[in-house]
Amino acid sequence: MEKVIGIDLGTTNSCVAVVENGTAVVIANRGGYKTTPSMVAMTEAGKRLVGHLAKRQAITNAENTVYSAKRLIGRKWNSPQVKQVASTASYNIVEGPHGDVRISLREKSHSVPEVSAMVLAEMKLIAEEYLGQEVQKAVVTVPAYFNDNQRQATKDAGAIAGLEVIRIINEPTAAALAYGFGRNIDRTVAVYDLGGGTFDVSILEIGATGVFKVISTAGDTFLGGEDFDSRVIDWLVEGFRDEHGIDLRKDRMALQRLKDAAEKAKVELSSVREVEINLPFIISSGRNEALHLQRVLSRTDFEQLTADLVQKTVDIMRQTLDDAGLHREDIEDVVLVGGMTRMPLVERSVAEFLGREPSKGVHPDEVVAIGAAIQGSALLDDDGPTANRVVLLDVTPQTLGMMVAGGLMEPLIPKDTTVPTARGKTFTTSRDNQTAVKILVMQGGAIRPTRTSSSGSSS
Ligand code: AMP
Repeated sequence: MEKVIGIDLGTTNSCVAVVENGTAVVIANRGGYKTTPSMVAMTEAGKRLVGHLAKRQAITNAENTVYSAKRLIGRKWNSPQVKQVASTASYNIVEGPHGDVRISLREKSHSVPEVSAMVLAEMKLIAEEYLGQEVQKAVVTVPAYFNDNQRQATKDAGAIAGLEVIRIINEPTAAALAYGFGRNIDRTVAVYDLGGGTFDVSILEIGATGVFKVISTAGDTFLGGEDFDSRVIDWLVEGFRDEHGIDLRKDRMALQRLKDAAEKAKVELSSVREVEINLPFIISSGRNEALHLQRVLSRTDFEQLTADLVQKTVDIMRQTLDDAGLHREDIEDVVLVGGMTRMPLVERSVAEFLGREPSKGVHPDEVVAIGAAIQGSALLDDDGPTANRVVLLDVTPQTLGMMVAGGLMEPLIPKDTTVPTARGKTFTTSRDNQTAVKILVMQGGAIRPTRTSSSGSSS
């Protein structure tokens, strides 16, 4: 029987699930892990490694190990986000044709969808080994705030991996689906998703008849766990510079070790109050003498280093509620998604803002893939267990409009409009006897079309 898999293609980790006999199961990889690092590497011998194998050799092969490709997908070379990643990444990001981004792996240059395709192909393989049959179709999730370029590039990645992406769905919508599917509930929920690279929040109405209606959605495609790691890296680098006068950022291998140590410290601080970061022989002093890095980071200090990042997510959540015309009291449950929601300050801040403890019933790392699998199964089954029991009503995450004279964007379909939708408007030409017009569709809140705008794009 044909199967559709659900893939959560994450910035840091990816996860694959499938519906079997009406129940969604998360599929473990060969190592027994239910999530797989979204990392790709090329060894000196020309062997391609994906997932845990890539992660394990990242320190010794930093230049040829790609992580967080999702932060680059669908973006142009000259965007500030790409510049930011390029300035800190241990691998090489270069400009390709048409202002595209290319990633070099041992002399060979790859497009970002090609790199993401390697991760998707691995997820496909994990599912095929488990199911014992070939898989051709998938539902892949993306952050709700992804624009059209980013969605298209994700679809392209699927095609390169040999998968027909039958639907792209928003991560928070998938999470709500996993949370509410088959439970016969009628409630308004907030989905707060803080992953490795992106933040998303959505407010949904779940109806007992299986209707999942998004009321509003917002987010920041450049706010996630890596920013928390960066704060720790900065703190370590500055401390080391004060003590030894050496900038560790100049050394790729040291930087990769710092990155690993920072993430590990962050994760540990979710369960302990203090961690010791110990990196022996991090660099040479230049006088043939090895220097060591050793520092203690407390949870309180870590929370101070990152308080503004958490506050930013709360501000976005407040804005989303305003956009939905709702008050905090209207939210009947909150679903936390993404590894970063295990950080106590994050959980505390969400609970304080909404005045209620988040739902404990869902697994933050698996819930999105489960939702994607449920949607996949519903799309495939005509009369199977999931058929006709799911109706997803999503919205346009960003305003859509047209460019008019003077380079201004004339909004036509406002943000948070339920799709599908259609709008019409009559425009006049700017010159007499004009027989043709160029129509530039724009997405995002930008007033002026700037090629580097974070949310704006044009096609
Ligand atoms: P995701 O994209 O949902 O897989 O989220 C991955 C992010 O969550 C990464 O930045 C991880 O470092 C972070 N993360 C995973 N586990 C924890 C934890 N226990 N505490 C804090 N952050 C975590």
